[in-house]
Amino acid sequence: METGFVYLVGSGPGDPGLLTLRAREVLEGATAVVYDNLVHPQILDWAPASAERVRMGKVGHLHGFSQDEITQALIDRAKQGSVVVRLKGGDPSVFGRLGEEAVALARAGIPFEIVPGVTAASGAAAYAGIPLTHRDYAPSVTLVTGHRRTDGGDGPEIDWKALARASGTLAIYMGVKHLGEAAAQLMAAGRAPDTPVALVRRATWPDQEVLTGTLGDIAERARKQNFRPPAVAIVGEVVELRKELAWFERKTLRGKKILITRALHQAAQANRSVQSRGGIPVALPLIELQPCGHKSGVESALRRVFAFDWVVFSSVNAVRFTFEKMDEMGLDARTFGAARVCAVGPKTAAELAARGIRADVVPDEYVAEALVGALTAVAELRGTSVLIPRAKVAREVVPRALENRGARVEVLPLYENVRPAAYPEEALHALVAGKLDLVTLASSSAAKNYATLCAERGIDPQAVPCAVIGPATRTTAEGHGLPVAVEALEYTMEGLLDAAETYFKGDQAKAFSRQDEQD
Ligand code: SAH
Repeated sequence: METGFVYLVGSGPGDPGLLTLRAREVLEGATAVVYDNLVHPQILDWAPASAERVRMGKVGHLHGFSQDEITQALIDRAKQGSVVVRLKGGDPSVFGRLGEEAVALARAGIPFEIVPGVTAASGAAAYAGIPLTHRDYAPSVTLVTGHRRTDGGDGPEIDWKALARASGTLAIYMGVKHLGEAAAQLMAAGRAPDTPVALVRRATWPDQEVLTGTLGDIAERARKQNFRPPAVAIVGEVVELRKELAWFERKTLRGKKILITRALHQAAQANRSVQSRGGIPVALPLIELQPCGHKSGVESALRRVFAFDWVVFSSVNAVRFTFEKMDEMGLDARTFGAARVCAVGPKTAAELAARGIRADVVPDEYVAEALVGALTAVAELRGTSVLIPRAKVAREVVPRALENRGARVEVLPLYENVRPAAYPEEALHALVAGKLDLVTLASSSAAKNYATLCAERGIDPQAVPCAVIGPATRTTAEGHGLPVAVEALEYTMEGLLDAAETYFKGDQAKAFSRQDEQD
């Protein structure tokens, strides 16, 4: 059998967005992924579903794996022909045992490649608003471990005296437990007790915490607050700049757990958006879309799409289901012939464009009047035929408005919302335990299904505020006794999250001033 390959890859400090493009590329081609405890789970999703996933970390020194076991696991898999991605937190060459693993591979004759990553000190510094070097304060930066070797090895000791003399920034890894000793050594060697220190925990994750102090008091502060690892300590004058530069804490959805209830295929975008606003998305799809309608009726309407003057798509899903059905029937975009096409908004238009159809009309606003106005601007509606492929249950305003203008409207129900048969355990647990800050409801069906789910599971819906995408969803939600605290101004998921930011702004200002007071 042909020998496989091992990629030793840095996964960055946490935020999946900090993974390199090269790392993502090699993950996409992996047949096995062997990963550390500090790797963000979302990063593993870039590996093919068929790839073997093996968690191999050194959890403290307890139930983890020994370095030999890990190295052997890589060699064994490569010898069986696997393309192995060994994912390590941060950068593999910084306190990552890259030396041991790569040397073992080289000696075993296994080909390998090293892909760097953003190391914890860089991630922590960036997300805490601290430049590691600065022309006025810090001409150098040193990465040092605060953890003394416990395996009896005889590597060189850390020369704290020399480090204290160097005027630059220190980034101390693995040092929470021994922070007091490191600080004492530095002060004994002449570093001023009032040298600023920032301790950054879970850097770049949504629950990142920063504790600031001085060499003289940081260990005591950390102890008092029970500040847990993993954290890096950044020591030096540069820490002062954080007062002006802290940006991550100012994200308005920071640390907020937001329930995303959209159908699975629509949740990815919402998840990303919540993350980029600093929040933690929790996915619990409350809706599943299923094809519906009489097969023969649907097929005959789609086969003669070209015979309509207008085809009006009122959602991305309407486009999806239309084309999925057409595909099944062996038809494609040519079936539209000379029919004019209207997309209700830019997203729907983009979905059409991806299938080779440029919408003739995209009204500025999704209200019946705007749509009718936009169509009338192109041509007189009287006597024209209009096809509206859409959900089984939908509002009748648009068809009615078109009919009032004299159009002959054919509504074609293609799909329906159903309640999912099962829910992801973790999200359900968060909901039951009341560990959420906001529930997002992007449709009336989602609101209805959420109320039903709460009733079924004995969850008190009053415990968590709801955010709705628009007035129709609000009416349904309130009709089911849900506490609506946020309503989108623009009726999109982005609009909903904008409104959520405004809602949480007060909270956030308070949280930040607490943090400043503590500082
Ligand atoms: N190779 C890694 C370091 C591994 S050693 C890297 O380049 O970052 C493990 C130590 O790294 C932890 O004890 C902690 O000091 C630091 N660390 C790793 N991830 C971190 C994070 N997200 N936030 C703060 N410190 C982190």
